[in-house]
Formats: sequence, structure tokens, C-alpha cells
Amino acid sequence: MFDLSPKPANTAVAPDFPWPLGKTCALFPAFDVDAESVWIGADPANARRLITRSYGGYEARVGIPKILETLRHHEVKATFFVTGWSIDAHPAICEAILADGHEIAHHGYLHLRPDTADEATLIEEMDRAIDAMKRVLGIFPAGYRAPWGETSPEQMELLKSRGIRYSSSFRDDIRPYRHILPSGPGPIEIPVNYSFDDWSYGLTHRTSPRAMFGREAVLSIWKDEFDQTREWGGVTTMVMHPQVTGRPMRIRILDQFLEHVRQCGDVWIGRGVDFADHFEACEATVL
Ligand SMILES: [Zn+2]
Repeated sequence: MFDLSPKPANTAVAPDFPWPLGKTCALFPAFDVDAESVWIGADPANARRLITRSYGGYEARVGIPKILETLRHHEVKATFFVTGWSIDAHPAICEAILADGHEIAHHGYLHLRPDTADEATLIEEMDRAIDAMKRVLGIFPAGYRAPWGETSPEQMELLKSRGIRYSSSFRDDIRPYRHILPSGPGPIEIPVNYSFDDWSYGLTHRTSPRAMFGREAVLSIWKDEFDQTREWGGVTTMVMHPQVTGRPMRIRILDQFLEHVRQCGDVWIGRGVDFADHFEACEATVL
């Protein structure tokens, strides 16, 4: 059933193209808007656990508005990977995200794991979310981030078949590349830096016994990862969660990190769709 043969799962090469505007490295600020769907998708019984659901409810009520304020202050445009369930449940906050010039991209419908879903569920998660984006917001997603940070060969082919131009889920590079699928060229990948997954630092007692990390610890990790990626000329891709990032003490981490990045002066900051546009332009000319 499983192919355990000794070969790399990913043979795509990340080309060494220049960043736009003469910048030497890049930042991809990205948020995963799971809201309540991450809880009820993990366990349907959570639908009646109102306190558990309220972790996700914080996003639309406080977390995302505060994040939008911070991004506005730093004049940064970001991508929000929003579940279809969250679009249906919280249309107003999604409209506020778009009104500020940010991108909304695909993150499943009910935040179900692509790697364990049967074929019908996989297709439903994909198409129901696309339908919510069209029906509620009038948009079609350019990009996709895998719920639970996991995907499968079938899901990668599904992204391609639906016309999704980029994925931002893999952990195997510091520069974008184009996936090579059994059917041929696949979506562009903007690989993520898992050190920027703040779920691990700030919402731990429901998901692990580890204590929360304070500002100095998180900021130190983020600066170290970013500074070295900058020296290597790569992209730092963030994996922030508004039910964590938007908490009072944690918004300061985002604020201070963006201040650090902007002071560098040589960092190109783009939304996922901007990375995809740039990659495709380079494929057509530089490569
Ligand atoms: Zn998620």
C-alpha cells in the first residue's frame, strides 16, 4: 500500500532567480484563519463545547481586527489562508481582510486532514471551500495551505486540477520552486518556515503540555531564522494563527518582528499571489 522505496519524495529544483525591486531576500507574511473549524473539524463533539469553540471565536472578534491594525501600521500586505467554514461563519471579517488589500487563499473547508481523507472527502473539502469563496466573497483562490500541515499525492493533483497556482505547505527549502507531479508540472511552492508556526508557542495547553513561550523567546527564534534566511537570500514564510497571534501580549511579537524586517531595507515583502506572479514571470524570462 505504501511506497517505501529509497528515493526522495520531492525532486523539484528551486531556481535562483532575483527578487523584485533589487531586494536580496523576501518575507511572506501569512496567517492561517482556522477560527472554530480547527476545533470542530478535529472532533465534531467540540461543536457543543462552547469554551473550546471560543478559542476560535476570538479570531473574528478581536484577533484579526488587531492584526489588520498592525499590518496597516507597517504598510504590509499579507495572505490569509481561510477555511471555507470560516468564510461562511465570518463573512464580515473576510471582507475587512480583502478591503485592506490582503489576499484570501484556500485552507480546506472544515480543516480536515488531506492525508487521511477518502477521495470523496478530499474533493468536498476542496470544492466546498472554493464555492464559499466565490459565493460569499466573489473571489477564486490563487493559493492553498494544507490544514494540519500535511498533504498527499492525491491532494497535490487535486490542487493542479482546480487551477490553484501555488501551495505554501512544504518544509523543504528556503526558495520557491514548482512541484513536479506524476501528471507533469504542478503548483508553485512557497515553502514555510515552521519556526513561524505560532500555534506551537502560544496555544499549547490544549494541544501539548508544553508551557507558553514568552515574547523574548519567540522574537529571538524569529529574528535568528529570518536573519540567516536573509543572508542566504531566501524567503521567510510565516505560519501565524490569529487565535494565537492576536492575543494581547503576542501582537507585540508580530509588531516588533515586522519593525525588525522593515529596518533591514533589502527585504521584498509580498502576498502569496505576488510570489506566484513573480515566479511565473521569471519562468518566462530569466529561467
Ligand atoms: Zn489551519
